[in-house]
Amino acid sequence: MNLESSRDLYDRALSVLPGGVNSPVRASYPYPAFIERGDGAHVIDADGNRYIDYVAGYGPVLLGHSLPDRVIAAIQSQVSDGPMYGAPTEVEVELAEFITRHVPSIEMVRFVNSGTEATTAAVRLARGYTGRDKVVIMQGGYHGAQESTLIEGDQHEAAPSSPGVPAEFAANTIPVPFNDEGAVEAVFEDHGSEIAAVLTEPLLGNQGIVMPQPGYHETLRELTREHGALLIFDEVMTGFRVGGLGCAQSHFGIEPDLTTLAKVIGGGFPIGAIGGRTEIMESLTPAGDVFEAGTFSGHPVTMTAGLETLRYAAEENVYEHLSDLGEQLRSGLVDIVADQAPAYTVTGIDSMFKVIFTRDGPAQTGACSAGCRQDPDCPHSQACPKNAGDVNAAATDRWERVFYHQMREQGVLLTPNQFESEFLTAAHTAEDIEETLEAYKAVL
Ligand code: PMP
Repeated sequence: MNLESSRDLYDRALSVLPGGVNSPVRASYPYPAFIERGDGAHVIDADGNRYIDYVAGYGPVLLGHSLPDRVIAAIQSQVSDGPMYGAPTEVEVELAEFITRHVPSIEMVRFVNSGTEATTAAVRLARGYTGRDKVVIMQGGYHGAQESTLIEGDQHEAAPSSPGVPAEFAANTIPVPFNDEGAVEAVFEDHGSEIAAVLTEPLLGNQGIVMPQPGYHETLRELTREHGALLIFDEVMTGFRVGGLGCAQSHFGIEPDLTTLAKVIGGGFPIGAIGGRTEIMESLTPAGDVFEAGTFSGHPVTMTAGLETLRYAAEENVYEHLSDLGEQLRSGLVDIVADQAPAYTVTGIDSMFKVIFTRDGPAQTGACSAGCRQDPDCPHSQACPKNAGDVNAAATDRWERVFYHQMREQGVLLTPNQFESEFLTAAHTAEDIEETLEAYKAVL
């Protein structure tokens, strides 16, 4: 496979962009494929190589790379009217109405410009609303590049996970293992009156894919209620992708107090959002006094792209198609893994999937998906990763240095490491899935 142009571009990029990229995950070993354009479910790189794409922008690309005509027309029309004004517009009200109509826990929305901004504002809002400072997060969870959550360690000892984050932040952030009810119960026993919020992804989407075990979210819901803390679901990745228009919270049957959204709701443009009950949301400026602001927030082009994308998804049964494809892909992968790599695990749900290069528990084969969650006796559930440590135990080097590249050689572009989820888009077809399964068969 010729990657000369990508290599040359990477050389140039290294002189003017730290690490050659604008977000670290893109710097795949030894250098990334520079993408020239997208086409439906495919992307074409600078050397003309064509790939079936499962990066999907790391989640935002729901409809594929060739947007439906009506979405393009709406975006173009907004652009020709001027990209932004710094004044309210009807389209931001419409997108907020769409979200509140479909997600029962969300009565009001504040739009921002990234997932990071959304979680940063959600944490500030929770602290301002409760008058408390401590936040409980999950080990292996990811909430963007923000100080309060770039914290590692455990409930006994936490520290910044990046230089530049003051140790004082670690004093107010308590990481606990995902799916460990005892750990979070103990934390509330010790610090219950100081905890502003538990912040968690509904499923860990940045650590392979780790599904919640039955009862875990219910425990978080009960503990937060009991102690006057807020439950924040970070649905930046899962929002309007898992669980369809109701988001992952509808799939799991949990109503959080606050939700963060981003990725899909911007239709491929930069966006973030915080949503929740009116009573809490009205603490934000200018309704309340918890400061939050942004020049680009509610950007008309983004709002238009997001609204038209979600309307299209709702009207064209996109989520059904995505779940069917996901099922086809995961069950095919389960068979291949059983046959060729029984030490590995297939995880995922709806349009998310990942093959994890390890298996915790007895050597059985199965997809760790909704099935396991809904049936505690599911024979697979013993084999599913349950927390960050299980995925950290995977053969990550083999994933990044061998597997990823050989899949790319086969014309399948995955996310470049063991930890990032892969995503289907509405443009993928059953034939793409068959072709992808053949590639897995060849490479595994
Ligand atoms: N939260 C979650 C769950 C995410 O997956 C991400 C990004 N992958 C973020 C927050 C940060 O979002 P952004 O990259 O848009 O700042």
